Amino acid sequence: MDTIARLKAALGPQGFSETQAEIAPLLEDWRGRKGHSPLLLKPASSEDVAAILSICHETRTPVVPIGGNTGLAGGQVAQGEVLLSLQRMNRVLAVDGGGMTLTAEAGAVLAQVQDRANEAGLMFPLTLASEGSCTIGGNIATNAGGNHVLRYGMVRALVLGLEVVLADGRVLPMLKHLHKDNTGYDLRQLFIGSEGTLGVVTKAVLRLFPKPAQQVVAFAAVPSPQGALVLLGRMQAATGGLLSAFELVPRIAVELVKRHIPGTRDPLAAPSPWYVLIEVSGGHGANLHDLAQNALASAVEKGEASDAIVAQTGAQARELWRIREGISEAQKREGASIKHDISVPVAKIPAFIAEATAAVTARFPGARPVTFGHLGDGNLHFNFNAPAGGDTGFLAYWDAMQLVVHDIVKSYEGSISAEHGIGNTKRDLLPRYKSAEELDAMRTLKQAFDPRGILNPGKVVAAS
Ligand code: ZN
Repeated sequence: MDTIARLKAALGPQGFSETQAEIAPLLEDWRGRKGHSPLLLKPASSEDVAAILSICHETRTPVVPIGGNTGLAGGQVAQGEVLLSLQRMNRVLAVDGGGMTLTAEAGAVLAQVQDRANEAGLMFPLTLASEGSCTIGGNIATNAGGNHVLRYGMVRALVLGLEVVLADGRVLPMLKHLHKDNTGYDLRQLFIGSEGTLGVVTKAVLRLFPKPAQQVVAFAAVPSPQGALVLLGRMQAATGGLLSAFELVPRIAVELVKRHIPGTRDPLAAPSPWYVLIEVSGGHGANLHDLAQNALASAVEKGEASDAIVAQTGAQARELWRIREGISEAQKREGASIKHDISVPVAKIPAFIAEATAAVTARFPGARPVTFGHLGDGNLHFNFNAPAGGDTGFLAYWDAMQLVVHDIVKSYEGSISAEHGIGNTKRDLLPRYKSAEELDAMRTLKQAFDPRGILNPGKVVAAS
């Protein structure tokens, strides 16, 4: 029996598809990168995943694991390999209100996990623009970030336990509910952010948090990124550390969102070069609405902000978030854009923006900077749209522009991939920005966990 036949026999008729109509949507990512695959495997259990990988290991058959296909670094795009989708393993298995944990299969959609936590009177704080379709397994494999990292950390900080199937089909049973476990190497953390190159995550125990009794969303106009940073400090101090999001938004992003996302409007009367979206979440004590309102009023009085609005209703809060969440889509509808997902130390953000924007616009005249993102944790989406009405050929500058930006990132001791990962799109950049020693250690791990190189080959680290 050939390998494909063995894989199909191991899963039964429900467990695979060779229909290109079903496979095709999993082969093109959000940015239009296309791949190909002869076979989609759809295991229903961890045992199925183990059976698949043991066959693939034995026969040296490469596999690409895929979640909701929302990754932005090409990590999930198959180039002829067998696709392994966890879409049928999509159950929330347990919610433990007292212990504040939720156990889910890897294919559970993030929004579903958020809902189940919410029903239990708790909260799972990971929020991303793609939460309606991305999966927990994908979030873990990519160590997803999103809008609440400032307060709750990245996925790495939200996972207590994992079940992982190794390349040879053995299962690592690490599905624990422990906050403290110092029994040697933290194997779990190796798989978080490994983009499916070291093992396949099949189940996870996630940390839940108390649902904030109050949540306040505000939008403030600031003169500059430096002004935004000053306001960040003021708001942290005024709320006693209750900020749950602090997002930088430039004027051009508001304009693009208004132009391309129906039902959006300017949140403030007069235009401002920069804005921040602020979210404050917390307890029953102080009235957070008044606290935020007063802090912002002082900021305006001191000239740190020119104007600010605090949402009065849930609908208004969602409207403000919609501006922030609509930026990527609006950029896409506006035309070609070149993107960077970078981080630098928070205090260095203003200097970085000034230096890198000047360097890019000098070298690529007309490129329109659309710099936005998670100011509170130092992660910017440092993007450039093509000159107005001039898309032609703009994307040909991708590599040259990236080099300019990433070299400046390096000089600020930052990261060239803050939250989107490496996939295949940034793999070959790593030797320029990571030390030979770190890369060597990464290759050693890859070799140890996947000696035959069958797991998501060519992603994150090049085959040695
Ligand atoms: Zn982001």
